[in-house]
Amino acid sequence: MSAPQSAIPVAKPVLGEEEAEAVRRVILSGWVTQGPEVAAFESEFASFVGAPHACAISNCTTALHLALKAAGVGSGDEVITVSHSFIATANAVRYCDAVPVFVDIEPDGYNIDPGLIEAAITPRTKAILCVHQLGMPCDLRSIVEIGKRHSIPVIEDAACATGSEILWEGRWEKIGKPHGDIACFSFHPRKVVTTGDGGMLTTANPDYDRKFRLWRQHGMSVTDAVRHGSKQVIFEDYDELGYNYRMTDLQAAVGRVQLRRLPELVAQRRRFASQYCEGLSTIPGLSIPVEPRWARSNWQSFCVRLSDEIDQRAVMQALLDQGISTRRGVMNIHLEGAYAGQNSHRAATSLTRSVSAQQQTIILPLYAQMTEVDIERVIGALRQAVADAERVVRQPEQDVVPA
Ligand SMILES: *Cc1c(COP(=O)(O)O)cnc(C)c1O
Repeated sequence: MSAPQSAIPVAKPVLGEEEAEAVRRVILSGWVTQGPEVAAFESEFASFVGAPHACAISNCTTALHLALKAAGVGSGDEVITVSHSFIATANAVRYCDAVPVFVDIEPDGYNIDPGLIEAAITPRTKAILCVHQLGMPCDLRSIVEIGKRHSIPVIEDAACATGSEILWEGRWEKIGKPHGDIACFSFHPRKVVTTGDGGMLTTANPDYDRKFRLWRQHGMSVTDAVRHGSKQVIFEDYDELGYNYRMTDLQAAVGRVQLRRLPELVAQRRRFASQYCEGLSTIPGLSIPVEPRWARSNWQSFCVRLSDEIDQRAVMQALLDQGISTRRGVMNIHLEGAYAGQNSHRAATSLTRSVSAQQQTIILPLYAQMTEVDIERVIGALRQAVADAERVVRQPEQDVVPA
């Protein structure tokens, strides 16, 4: 019997002494929310992605809510997006009392099919909410063109895409550099960099940025920092309905360290993704993800696809039996109970590609602390699991062969 092998989780944040030290520094400073660390994190994030404005916020879901609200999305309006995403994408539309209008994904990827967007536009369409799913940039150029042609704002759900890049007029640019109107990021531990929970909004539009800052702090006309620093007594006003969507300085201090780690984290993930692609490309019945010529994914998730007849659950179980955790691919929002209601959404196209992607895909372990040996172990286990599943599939045919 071989020695038991250590478990390989599907993801793992990279957090260390530097993050712990940053939080300690903030605690001892006495200023713990939306203060100097948040301001510094915002300006460092803005320069990292190349955006004129970056506004820190409590998470990406609240970022999406404020982005849609800033774009003027309100009661009864429609927002074109995908069902094939994390549920927060469409939930944010519903927070605006608007209707998510789902279109299908591309035939060979997990992002919105730009060719389906125009036919879904109605007089009530107020925004296009595209997702850079699993960190892979969507076809932003085509989507922005459609938005411009119809004067509809484009909002990017870039929750997974911190550090991903897109080729724009011959230059590699970070996702979050404004081409769409607003981009929304997540710093949940399942993403490439984390602040525990947290988010960021980037935009080129100063009015949007001003609104985000107002709304994230109860609609209060004066920030804590201004009031605190003032030599005169100031009374604040609340002219608009706001929210408490603040990021704390504890989170921002962690975020600043994570941002410094990010380039190396992405480089490491890209090396592991290449190793996966090379090792997995020869497995019959399995397809590897495609990175378009104009995209550089941060590989927030590495998602493989099984041919139709192979049992996804059996393959995942076989891997788990070897100590290797995986996850099913991206969910379909329209199949969830929260979307069973009459006015919860509208499907503008068939969603068959979205549904079959969910049924056929598996997310493999990928995190910076893995080793090449771990990657090889996953490749080997997956090769075996797929072969075993294929044998099960072929079984009935073999049975009818006369002895
Ligand atoms: C994670 C995720 C979100 C939600 O981000 P939070 O920071 O957890 O609110 C939204 N959209 C997509 C595509 C995501 O993957």
